[in-house]
Amino acid sequence: MSNKYSGGCDHIHTHADDEPVDNHTCHCSVCKRVTGQPTTHVVFFKHEDMHVDNENGLNRQPFNDQNPEGPLELCTCATCGTPIMLDDKQRRIRVIVPNLMGYDPASLPPTYHAFYDPATGVPKPADGRPVHEGLRPDFVWPVAA
Ligand SMILES: [Zn+2]
Ligand SMILES: [Zn+2]
Repeated sequence: MSNKYSGGCDHIHTHADDEPVDNHTCHCSVCKRVTGQPTTHVVFFKHEDMHVDNENGLNRQPFNDQNPEGPLELCTCATCGTPIMLDDKQRRIRVIVPNLMGYDPASLPPTYHAFYDPATGVPKPADGRPVHEGLRPDFVWPVAA
């Protein structure tokens, strides 16, 4: 069995056979805090396109611990603690951070920079990809299936 995109840990596997709906390098403070990385490569799939084989094996916690009512939950493996995905309580998207969640980052190259904030003092990225202060302006949230 081979899927277009697959990842997870030894206990929980995720996969998608459809293309993501958004793919960016995130500069936001929440991603920084959660991942410990200066920027985070973030891939959005439509909720129904990202499949999980053992959903009962997930621990769920608010992605943003400063906004626990927010829609995104960080799902980690209850057995080994590996981050598996971010799940949207509104069932619009599921989010993969390729380098932390068992995916090949090179197979999912980000197309732009999101949530870049010049006030942080970080130099504006100059790799040629568009830089936005939020998500790309033409991003449309998928409707929950
Ligand atoms: Zn972020
Ligand atoms: Zn595991």
